[in-house]
Amino acid sequence: MASEKPIVVVTCTAPVNIAVVKYWGKRDEELILPINSSLSVTLHQDQLKTTTTAAISRDFTEDRIWLNGQEEDVGQPRLQACLREIRRLARKRRSNGHEDPLPLSLSYKVHVASENNFPTAAGLASSAAGYACLAYTLARVYGVDSDLSEVARRGSGSACRSLYGGFVEWQMGERPDGKDSIAHQVAPESHWPELRVLILVVSAERKPMGSTAGMQTSVETSALLKFRAEALVPARMAEMTRCIRERDFQAFGQLTMKDSNQFHATCLDTFPPISYLSDTSRRIIQLVHRFNAHHGRTKAGAGLGAPGGLHGACFAGGSLPSSPRFLKGLPVEPILLSDELKAALGMDPVPGSIRYIIATQVGPGPQVLDDPGAHLLGPDGLPKPAA
Ligand code: ADP
Repeated sequence: MASEKPIVVVTCTAPVNIAVVKYWGKRDEELILPINSSLSVTLHQDQLKTTTTAAISRDFTEDRIWLNGQEEDVGQPRLQACLREIRRLARKRRSNGHEDPLPLSLSYKVHVASENNFPTAAGLASSAAGYACLAYTLARVYGVDSDLSEVARRGSGSACRSLYGGFVEWQMGERPDGKDSIAHQVAPESHWPELRVLILVVSAERKPMGSTAGMQTSVETSALLKFRAEALVPARMAEMTRCIRERDFQAFGQLTMKDSNQFHATCLDTFPPISYLSDTSRRIIQLVHRFNAHHGRTKAGAGLGAPGGLHGACFAGGSLPSSPRFLKGLPVEPILLSDELKAALGMDPVPGSIRYIIATQVGPGPQVLDDPGAHLLGPDGLPKPAA
């Protein structure tokens, strides 16, 4: 195997997204169909990204995948669902008479290597960036140019929102086969360039309860979740879309916070209850509210993914230690807290409670990397040794 070159090697990157109208709960576990639509902001890949290389070769004897340098079990059902789906689309394309640039390639095995440049499985949406990147990269390898929502969604629901840049809606759809459960862009990243996103990393540990199990229990036991999905989310989707189109930050920030709070309320309404908020997260939310009250308007919003990252859409800097290990990403001008603001915030700092902060902005969707030096797999189809 080592002597033969892989026939096709493609490397792509994909972004993380943070929901401002949350997805929580599936109506179909197998197809990953949600009980409500959701809307997210795609974050810039200059700060957070997944890079994935896929290669196919006649010489490969089995499908294999490496994640962050470690070989993973390729038999995982979600991975298998993505592979099956992309090969199905490729076959369909071929049977529709499209010329196949790579005859026989459909029967070839694939090797995949992927890396996240941020903590995996800690609440920073590595599954979304990871599966979007997988779908996008495999599509290029297999010559598929149709909508990839289903391929990405079968890996992780929110991954379909990482297939586009800017502001992205995932429509829940109505069909039992999920063909209308797709993501599309509400506005491109260029639409609202002043928007800044601060990710406050409180912990980089694995979540106490994975999203899949958490959602399932919520769907089974929370009447509040059912009410939210049926009676509240449709109007919120319309209002959030308006806020984005009109760049209405006041309403955007407030609705983002309310939707995040409602998500946490459904977690508490779940039986047994789930909690993704730490004491530090609660203090940050308090801080944002006091900050806004002091300024008399919503200058900052706070919404939470899961315990690892508290995501704030924010226009203002704060008095932060400015060491590059603490403050990563876009340059942020730290300001000195005035006595007046200090009194208004009414909290003493808790050193060490926030591990680090990533300053970022709205960004584009997945990208193909043309530089062969970017490939994570070597000519033998195995991961390149770490540099
Ligand atoms: P997160 O909050 O980071 O999305 P999850 O526990 O929901 O955490 O998902 C993490 C899982 O997503 C990983 O265990 C792995 O199965 C998958 N995943 C993460 N990154 C990638 C990647 N780059 N490529 C493929 N799958 C990935």
